[in-house]
Amino acid sequence: MKTWLLAMQQQLSRQVRDNKLPHALLFSGVDGAGQEEIAQWLINVLLCQRLKEHVDKTLNKASVLEEINADSAQLVDAVLQPCGICKTCKLFANNSYPDHLTIVSDKKNIGVELIRDLSHFFEKTAHIGDMKTALVNQADTMTVSAANALLKTLEEPTENSFIILTTDSSDLLLPTIISRCHEFEIRPPVGKELLAEFNQQGDDAFVNLSHLSELSDAESAVAFAAFRDMVNKYLFAHQHRADILAILVEHQAGYRWLEKIIVDMMRHQSGWPTVASNNEPTDSINKHQLWDIYNLVQVANGKLKTIVQVNKQFLSEQLLADIKVVLQNNEQTVEE
Ligand SMILES: [Zn+2]
Repeated sequence: MKTWLLAMQQQLSRQVRDNKLPHALLFSGVDGAGQEEIAQWLINVLLCQRLKEHVDKTLNKASVLEEINADSAQLVDAVLQPCGICKTCKLFANNSYPDHLTIVSDKKNIGVELIRDLSHFFEKTAHIGDMKTALVNQADTMTVSAANALLKTLEEPTENSFIILTTDSSDLLLPTIISRCHEFEIRPPVGKELLAEFNQQGDDAFVNLSHLSELSDAESAVAFAAFRDMVNKYLFAHQHRADILAILVEHQAGYRWLEKIIVDMMRHQSGWPTVASNNEPTDSINKHQLWDIYNLVQVANGKLKTIVQVNKQFLSEQLLADIKVVLQNNEQTVEE
Protein backbone atom coordinates (compact mmCIF):
# COMPACT_ATOMS: atom_id res chain seq x y z
CA MET A 1 0.00 0.00 0.00
CA LYS A 2 1.28 3.46 -0.88
CA THR A 3 2.60 5.29 2.17
CA TRP A 4 0.56 8.43 1.47
CA LEU A 5 -2.65 6.40 1.89
CA LEU A 6 -1.86 5.61 5.53
CA ALA A 7 -3.61 8.60 7.11
CA MET A 8 -6.75 7.90 5.09
CA GLN A 9 -6.64 4.22 6.06
CA GLN A 10 -6.38 5.22 9.70
CA GLN A 11 -9.37 7.52 9.37
CA LEU A 12 -11.44 4.87 7.58
CA SER A 13 -10.43 2.22 10.13
CA ARG A 14 -11.71 4.47 12.91
CA GLN A 15 -14.98 4.97 11.08
CA VAL A 16 -15.40 1.22 10.54
CA ARG A 17 -14.70 0.49 14.21
CA ASP A 18 -17.08 3.20 15.39
CA ASN A 19 -19.74 2.10 12.94
CA LYS A 20 -19.69 5.53 11.33
CA LEU A 21 -18.59 4.72 7.81
CA PRO A 22 -20.67 6.58 5.19
CA HIS A 23 -22.72 4.31 2.92
CA ALA A 24 -21.57 5.95 -0.30
CA LEU A 25 -17.91 6.77 -0.70
CA LEU A 26 -15.99 8.35 -3.53
CA PHE A 27 -12.21 8.00 -3.75
CA SER A 28 -10.75 10.59 -6.09
CA GLY A 29 -7.28 11.71 -7.09
CA VAL A 30 -4.94 11.79 -10.06
CA ASP A 31 -4.36 8.63 -12.02
CA GLY A 32 -2.20 6.32 -9.94
CA ALA A 33 -2.93 8.04 -6.62
CA GLY A 34 -4.16 4.73 -5.21
CA GLN A 35 -7.95 5.16 -5.24
CA GLU A 36 -8.63 1.64 -6.53
CA GLU A 37 -6.13 0.19 -4.08
CA ILE A 38 -7.70 1.82 -1.04
CA ALA A 39 -11.22 0.95 -2.23
CA GLN A 40 -10.23 -2.70 -2.55
CA TRP A 41 -8.68 -2.66 0.92
CA LEU A 42 -11.73 -1.02 2.50
CA ILE A 43 -14.17 -3.48 0.94
CA ASN A 44 -12.07 -6.38 2.14
CA VAL A 45 -11.99 -4.87 5.65
CA LEU A 46 -15.79 -4.57 5.60
CA LEU A 47 -16.30 -8.12 4.36
CA CYS A 48 -13.60 -10.06 6.27
CA GLN A 49 -15.52 -12.40 8.55
CA ARG A 50 -12.76 -12.82 11.11
CA LEU A 51 -12.19 -9.11 11.45
CA LYS A 52 -15.91 -8.58 11.88
CA GLU A 53 -16.22 -11.28 14.54
CA HIS A 54 -13.34 -9.79 16.47
CA VAL A 55 -14.81 -6.33 16.43
CA ASP A 56 -18.34 -7.55 17.23
CA LYS A 57 -17.54 -10.00 20.01
CA THR A 58 -15.08 -8.12 22.09
CA LEU A 59 -16.38 -5.13 23.94
CA ASN A 60 -12.90 -4.09 24.89
CA LYS A 61 -11.91 -2.48 21.65
CA ALA A 62 -8.34 -1.83 22.73
CA SER A 63 -7.62 -5.52 23.14
CA VAL A 64 -9.16 -6.30 19.77
CA LEU A 65 -6.85 -3.88 18.09
CA GLU A 66 -3.92 -5.14 20.07
CA GLU A 67 -4.63 -8.58 18.76
CA ILE A 68 -5.18 -7.51 15.17
CA ASN A 69 -2.38 -5.01 14.98
CA ALA A 70 0.05 -6.27 17.58
CA ASP A 71 2.93 -4.05 16.59
CA SER A 72 0.98 -0.84 16.31
CA ALA A 73 2.18 1.56 18.97
CA GLN A 74 -0.79 3.89 18.88
CA LEU A 75 -4.00 1.93 18.95
CA VAL A 76 -6.09 4.89 17.96
CA ASP A 77 -4.19 5.11 14.68
CA ALA A 78 -4.27 1.40 13.95
CA VAL A 79 -5.14 0.37 10.41
CA LEU A 80 -7.52 -2.55 10.19
CA GLN A 81 -6.26 -5.35 7.99
CA PRO A 82 -8.36 -8.18 6.55
CA CYS A 83 -7.14 -11.58 7.73
CA GLY A 84 -6.66 -12.92 4.21
CA ILE A 85 -7.41 -16.51 5.20
CA CYS A 86 -11.10 -16.69 6.12
CA LYS A 87 -13.63 -17.97 3.60
CA THR A 88 -14.81 -14.46 2.80
CA CYS A 89 -11.30 -13.15 2.20
CA LYS A 90 -10.48 -16.07 -0.05
CA LEU A 91 -13.66 -15.71 -2.10
CA PHE A 92 -13.12 -11.96 -2.33
CA ALA A 93 -9.53 -12.46 -3.52
CA ASN A 94 -10.86 -14.76 -6.26
CA ASN A 95 -13.51 -12.23 -7.30
CA SER A 96 -16.20 -14.76 -6.39
CA TYR A 97 -17.66 -13.40 -3.16
CA PRO A 98 -21.41 -13.34 -3.88
CA ASP A 99 -22.25 -10.31 -1.71
CA HIS A 100 -19.85 -8.03 -3.51
CA LEU A 101 -20.23 -6.63 -7.01
CA THR A 102 -17.55 -4.86 -9.01
CA ILE A 103 -18.82 -2.98 -12.01
CA VAL A 104 -16.44 -3.64 -14.86
CA SER A 105 -16.92 -2.02 -18.22
CA ASP A 106 -15.14 -3.46 -21.20
CA LYS A 107 -16.17 -0.51 -23.30
CA LYS A 108 -15.10 3.09 -22.89
CA ASN A 109 -18.06 3.95 -20.69
CA ILE A 110 -20.29 2.42 -18.03
CA GLY A 111 -23.77 2.08 -19.44
CA VAL A 112 -27.14 2.20 -17.70
CA GLU A 113 -27.65 -1.58 -17.88
CA LEU A 114 -24.60 -2.17 -15.64
CA ILE A 115 -25.95 0.26 -13.05
CA ARG A 116 -29.35 -1.48 -13.18
CA ASP A 117 -27.53 -4.72 -12.36
CA LEU A 118 -26.09 -2.92 -9.36
CA SER A 119 -29.52 -1.77 -8.18
CA HIS A 120 -30.91 -5.30 -8.49
CA PHE A 121 -27.88 -6.64 -6.63
CA PHE A 122 -28.72 -4.44 -3.64
CA GLU A 123 -32.39 -5.41 -3.70
CA LYS A 124 -31.57 -9.07 -3.02
CA THR A 125 -30.65 -10.28 0.47
CA ALA A 126 -27.07 -11.17 1.27
CA HIS A 127 -25.96 -14.76 0.67
CA ILE A 128 -23.28 -15.17 3.30
CA GLY A 129 -22.94 -12.34 5.79
CA ASP A 130 -25.28 -9.43 6.29
CA MET A 131 -23.06 -6.98 4.42
CA LYS A 132 -23.26 -6.05 0.76
CA THR A 133 -20.74 -3.97 -1.11
CA ALA A 134 -20.37 -2.68 -4.64
CA LEU A 135 -17.46 -1.01 -6.37
CA VAL A 136 -17.69 1.25 -9.42
CA ASN A 137 -14.22 2.00 -10.73
CA GLN A 138 -13.71 4.95 -13.11
CA ALA A 139 -17.14 6.22 -12.15
CA ASP A 140 -16.60 9.30 -14.32
CA THR A 141 -17.09 7.09 -17.38
CA MET A 142 -20.75 6.47 -16.48
CA THR A 143 -23.14 7.70 -19.12
CA VAL A 144 -25.64 10.34 -17.99
CA SER A 145 -28.45 7.78 -17.81
CA ALA A 146 -26.20 5.41 -15.85
CA ALA A 147 -25.36 8.20 -13.41
CA ASN A 148 -29.04 9.05 -13.01
CA ALA A 149 -29.85 5.41 -12.35
CA LEU A 150 -27.11 5.30 -9.72
CA LEU A 151 -28.55 8.40 -8.03
CA LYS A 152 -31.68 6.46 -7.12
CA THR A 153 -29.63 3.73 -5.46
CA LEU A 154 -27.50 6.29 -3.63
CA GLU A 155 -30.63 8.02 -2.34
CA GLU A 156 -31.96 4.90 -0.66
CA PRO A 157 -29.06 3.40 1.26
CA THR A 158 -29.80 0.21 3.17
CA GLU A 159 -28.16 -0.27 6.52
CA ASN A 160 -25.52 -2.83 5.66
CA SER A 161 -24.77 -1.81 2.12
CA PHE A 162 -21.83 0.24 0.91
CA ILE A 163 -21.26 1.70 -2.54
CA ILE A 164 -17.74 2.77 -3.36
CA LEU A 165 -16.83 4.82 -6.41
CA THR A 166 -13.37 5.65 -7.69
CA THR A 167 -12.32 8.24 -10.24
CA ASP A 168 -9.27 10.04 -11.56
CA SER A 169 -11.45 12.76 -13.08
CA SER A 170 -13.97 13.86 -10.49
CA ASP A 171 -14.59 16.99 -12.58
CA LEU A 172 -16.36 14.74 -15.09
CA LEU A 173 -18.75 13.30 -12.50
CA LEU A 174 -22.25 14.72 -12.16
CA PRO A 175 -22.31 17.12 -9.17
CA THR A 176 -25.42 15.32 -7.92
CA ILE A 177 -23.41 12.09 -7.66
CA ILE A 178 -20.59 13.80 -5.79
CA SER A 179 -23.02 15.47 -3.39
CA ARG A 180 -24.51 12.12 -2.42
CA CYS A 181 -21.14 10.54 -1.71
CA HIS A 182 -18.61 11.21 0.96
CA GLU A 183 -15.58 12.20 -1.07
CA PHE A 184 -12.11 11.13 -0.02
CA GLU A 185 -9.63 13.06 -2.12
CA ILE A 186 -6.21 11.45 -2.26
CA ARG A 187 -3.34 13.93 -2.53
CA PRO A 188 -0.09 12.14 -3.27
CA PRO A 189 3.15 13.98 -2.52
CA VAL A 190 4.88 15.89 -5.33
CA GLY A 191 8.44 16.93 -6.11
CA LYS A 192 11.30 15.64 -3.97
CA GLU A 193 8.98 13.90 -1.57
CA LEU A 194 7.45 11.84 -4.37
CA LEU A 195 10.83 11.05 -5.89
CA ALA A 196 11.96 9.79 -2.49
CA GLU A 197 8.95 7.48 -2.36
CA PHE A 198 10.29 5.74 -5.43
CA ASN A 199 13.95 5.95 -4.40
CA GLN A 200 14.65 8.50 -7.12
CA GLN A 201 16.98 11.46 -6.82
CA GLY A 202 16.38 14.92 -8.19
CA ASP A 203 14.95 18.30 -7.34
CA ASP A 204 12.24 18.82 -9.96
CA ALA A 205 9.67 20.52 -7.74
CA PHE A 206 6.98 20.00 -10.35
CA VAL A 207 7.25 16.27 -10.77
CA ASN A 208 4.02 14.49 -9.93
CA LEU A 209 2.44 11.06 -10.19
CA SER A 210 1.52 11.47 -13.85
CA HIS A 211 5.25 11.36 -14.69
CA LEU A 212 5.92 8.12 -12.88
CA SER A 213 6.37 5.98 -15.95
CA GLU A 214 9.13 8.31 -17.20
CA LEU A 215 10.73 8.32 -13.75
CA SER A 216 10.68 4.64 -13.03
CA ASP A 217 11.01 3.11 -16.48
CA ALA A 218 14.16 3.70 -18.53
CA GLU A 219 12.50 2.90 -21.86
CA SER A 220 9.75 5.42 -21.16
CA ALA A 221 12.30 8.05 -20.16
CA VAL A 222 14.18 7.65 -23.46
CA ALA A 223 10.97 7.82 -25.49
CA PHE A 224 9.85 10.93 -23.61
CA ALA A 225 13.20 12.69 -24.16
CA ALA A 226 13.10 11.89 -27.88
CA PHE A 227 9.55 13.21 -28.14
CA ARG A 228 10.56 16.40 -26.31
CA ASP A 229 13.32 16.99 -28.86
CA MET A 230 10.87 16.50 -31.71
CA VAL A 231 8.35 18.91 -30.20
CA ASN A 232 11.10 21.51 -29.77
CA LYS A 233 12.13 21.17 -33.39
CA TYR A 234 8.52 21.32 -34.48
CA LEU A 235 7.83 24.51 -32.56
CA PHE A 236 10.99 26.24 -33.71
CA ALA A 237 11.57 24.85 -37.19
CA HIS A 238 8.37 23.01 -38.19
CA GLN A 239 10.20 19.70 -38.32
CA HIS A 240 8.99 16.23 -37.35
CA ARG A 241 5.29 16.85 -37.93
CA ALA A 242 4.66 13.23 -39.04
CA ASP A 243 6.64 11.77 -36.11
CA ILE A 244 4.77 13.87 -33.58
CA LEU A 245 1.46 13.01 -35.18
CA ALA A 246 2.27 9.29 -34.98
CA ILE A 247 3.11 9.51 -31.27
CA LEU A 248 0.01 11.56 -30.47
CA VAL A 249 -2.18 9.04 -32.27
CA GLU A 250 -0.49 5.81 -31.21
CA HIS A 251 1.27 6.38 -27.89
CA GLN A 252 -0.89 6.20 -24.80
CA ALA A 253 1.06 8.97 -23.07
CA GLY A 254 1.43 11.21 -26.15
CA TYR A 255 -1.01 13.92 -25.14
CA ARG A 256 0.12 13.96 -21.52
CA TRP A 257 3.73 14.27 -22.67
CA LEU A 258 2.90 17.14 -24.99
CA GLU A 259 1.15 18.95 -22.17
CA LYS A 260 4.11 18.46 -19.84
CA ILE A 261 6.56 19.74 -22.45
CA ILE A 262 4.52 22.89 -23.05
CA VAL A 263 4.07 23.48 -19.33
CA ASP A 264 7.82 23.06 -18.76
CA MET A 265 8.48 25.64 -21.48
CA MET A 266 6.05 28.08 -19.86
CA ARG A 267 7.78 27.63 -16.52
CA HIS A 268 11.17 28.02 -18.12
CA GLN A 269 10.06 31.19 -19.86
CA SER A 270 8.77 32.58 -16.58
CA GLY A 271 12.15 31.92 -15.00
CA TRP A 272 11.00 29.01 -12.87
CA PRO A 273 13.52 26.26 -12.36
CA THR A 274 12.82 23.17 -14.41
CA VAL A 275 14.95 20.15 -14.99
CA ALA A 276 13.61 19.27 -18.37
CA SER A 277 14.10 22.36 -20.50
CA ASN A 278 17.24 24.22 -19.59
CA ASN A 279 18.66 24.91 -23.02
CA GLU A 280 15.72 25.56 -25.27
CA PRO A 281 15.62 28.74 -27.31
CA THR A 282 12.18 29.59 -25.98
CA ASP A 283 12.71 33.25 -26.82
CA SER A 284 11.56 32.68 -30.39
CA ILE A 285 8.09 31.84 -29.09
CA ASN A 286 6.46 34.44 -26.95
CA LYS A 287 4.40 33.89 -23.81
CA HIS A 288 1.09 34.48 -25.54
CA GLN A 289 1.85 31.89 -28.16
CA LEU A 290 2.85 29.30 -25.58
CA TRP A 291 -0.31 30.05 -23.66
CA ASP A 292 -2.38 29.65 -26.83
CA ILE A 293 -0.66 26.34 -27.59
CA TYR A 294 -1.18 25.15 -24.03
CA ASN A 295 -4.90 25.92 -24.34
CA LEU A 296 -5.13 24.07 -27.65
CA VAL A 297 -3.54 21.01 -26.04
CA GLN A 298 -5.90 21.27 -23.07
CA VAL A 299 -8.96 21.47 -25.32
CA ALA A 300 -7.80 18.45 -27.34
CA ASN A 301 -7.11 16.56 -24.11
CA GLY A 302 -10.61 17.36 -22.89
CA LYS A 303 -12.12 16.04 -26.10
CA LEU A 304 -10.10 12.83 -25.78
CA LYS A 305 -11.50 12.30 -22.30
CA THR A 306 -15.11 13.23 -22.88
CA ILE A 307 -15.99 12.17 -26.42
CA VAL A 308 -16.76 8.48 -26.54
CA GLN A 309 -15.84 7.70 -30.12
CA VAL A 310 -13.22 10.32 -30.74
CA ASN A 311 -11.19 10.18 -33.95
CA LYS A 312 -7.69 10.53 -32.54
CA GLN A 313 -6.08 10.86 -35.96
CA PHE A 314 -8.36 13.73 -36.94
CA LEU A 315 -8.09 15.38 -33.52
CA SER A 316 -4.27 15.25 -33.61
CA GLU A 317 -4.03 16.57 -37.18
CA GLN A 318 -6.34 19.41 -36.21
CA LEU A 319 -4.26 20.17 -33.12
CA LEU A 320 -1.00 20.37 -35.09
CA ALA A 321 -2.69 22.56 -37.72
CA ASP A 322 -3.97 24.90 -34.99
CA ILE A 323 -0.53 25.05 -33.38
CA LYS A 324 0.96 25.92 -36.76
CA VAL A 325 -1.45 28.84 -37.11
CA VAL A 326 -0.36 30.14 -33.71
CA LEU A 327 3.30 29.85 -34.72
CA GLN A 328 2.72 31.58 -38.06
CA ASN A 329 0.99 34.49 -36.35
CA ASN A 330 4.25 35.26 -34.59
CA GLU A 331 6.30 35.12 -37.77
CA GLN A 332 3.98 37.68 -39.33
CA THR A 333 4.29 39.91 -36.29
CA VAL A 334 8.10 39.67 -36.43
CA GLU A 335 8.15 40.53 -40.16
CA GLU A 336 5.99 43.57 -39.62
ZN1 LIG B 1 -10.77 -12.55 6.43
